[in-house]
Amino acid sequence: MVRDNMTMASSPNGAGDELFDQFLTDRGHSMETVGWEHDYNKKQCPECGGLHDTSASSCTACGWAPTR
Ligand SMILES: [Zn+2]
Repeated sequence: MVRDNMTMASSPNGAGDELFDQFLTDRGHSMETVGWEHDYNKKQCPECGGLHDTSASSCTACGWAPTR
């Protein structure tokens, strides 16, 4: 179980893409792919924390989708 996205869970909501890229760069994670959190057999949205089936391709709660 990979949990290295834990620190990404608190990404600044509402920030523009440029600000978000700067945020990643500041943290030494330049352009790192943002993907789903995983909880048991569910996907968890890193933006709103919503749980989805593993077949989900985007978050139906807030509209977030992984960057790949
Ligand atoms: Zn969401």
